[in-house]
Amino acid sequence: MKEQNHYLKDSRLIETHYGEEYEHYYNAIVPPVFLNSLNVFPTIDDYYDSDKTDRHVYCYGRVQNPTVRILEDKIAALEHGEGAFVFSSGMAAATTAVMAVCHTGSHIVCVRNVYGPLKTFLTQHCTEQFQMQVTFVKGDRLEEFEEAITDDTDLVVLESPSSIMMTLQDIRGVAAIAGAHRARIYIDNTYCTPIFQNPLDLGADMVMHTMSKYIGGHSDIIGGVLVAKDKELLAKLSLMRELYGGILGPMEAWLGIRGIRTLEVRLRQHEKTALAVAAYLEKHPRVKKVYFPGLPSFPQYELMQKQQQGNCGLMSFELDGSVEQTKAFCQALRIFKIGVSWGGFESLVTMPFARASEEETAWLGGAQNLIRIHCGLEGEENLIADLEQAFAAL
Ligand SMILES: *Cc1c(COP(=O)(O)O)cnc(C)c1O
Repeated sequence: MKEQNHYLKDSRLIETHYGEEYEHYYNAIVPPVFLNSLNVFPTIDDYYDSDKTDRHVYCYGRVQNPTVRILEDKIAALEHGEGAFVFSSGMAAATTAVMAVCHTGSHIVCVRNVYGPLKTFLTQHCTEQFQMQVTFVKGDRLEEFEEAITDDTDLVVLESPSSIMMTLQDIRGVAAIAGAHRARIYIDNTYCTPIFQNPLDLGADMVMHTMSKYIGGHSDIIGGVLVAKDKELLAKLSLMRELYGGILGPMEAWLGIRGIRTLEVRLRQHEKTALAVAAYLEKHPRVKKVYFPGLPSFPQYELMQKQQQGNCGLMSFELDGSVEQTKAFCQALRIFKIGVSWGGFESLVTMPFARASEEETAWLGGAQNLIRIHCGLEGEENLIADLEQAFAAL
């Protein structure tokens, strides 16, 4: 279907239809949810050959499902990958990626600000059970990667921008260094979505998105995806998903397909709102620092412009006030609800380091009174007014 669209100037919006084969489901404009757990065959040989024949032959729902496949084809097209596999959560995708590439004794280079539970998986599970070694890097200087990556490094774990401190890594630069040592690059691209950054084009090997955030987009699914270009790697990921059994359910896949249809318009609106909110916060006398890659004052703004096409609704900032005052500020907000996660309609607020140790907080470049907000779709004037009344209550 992609081939038919070459005459279009901007095929991105059309890619939201990619992978849909109307003729296979009575020309319905919206693909159905295939809730079947298995498919049947006319002969025993057809059954045995099912995984070798064409892509429209399905056998068992833990391996593949038509609704799931439509979603995977779309995400692969949007990320410029050769293929994609969706999982029951972002963490299922992330851990499968690590186990597909690493083995006992593997060396991993990982950025400090990577998603916390993945760090826990690496440092507590992989090091203890599989004697892997993890070297953490801040990630803002290429020299640091050069020093950390060795010929024993199997995996480099990136997240750019990261989801609390919004730190970036030079993806192209890291890819050149990792490539020289035959190390694979995994990157969490959840912040940008495929709309604002395509790391496979910059040299990454595996892109992960948690679909629980913007791809789902309505705070109603948990899911994850891995996208890759390399066919050998895709075959490995496919096998690992089948064996670990972490495939996404068909209903969630269908909601993912629905989410993708509006992904770009939602993202552009989140970005517009976030830019207005970040500019407002930056000028506010009670705000010490704003962490948002879309602000020209952001230390890595130039790198952001080089590798991203935009920024989402997520940012952090520091108040000039104690942890207790900051808690009161968060609790005074009415539109921004207190809660983890992000990427849906709703504006949200958290204090990611309020209970972290000072040591851990400093290691990540944060502060205990740091506030992270997700700018939702309630309208920028409303969000700024909400912040304004919370500042007034300080
Ligand atoms: C939420 C999140 C994850 C984990 O995704 P789940 O679907 O909750 O497993 C990974 N990375 C980032 C950046 C996230 O925000």
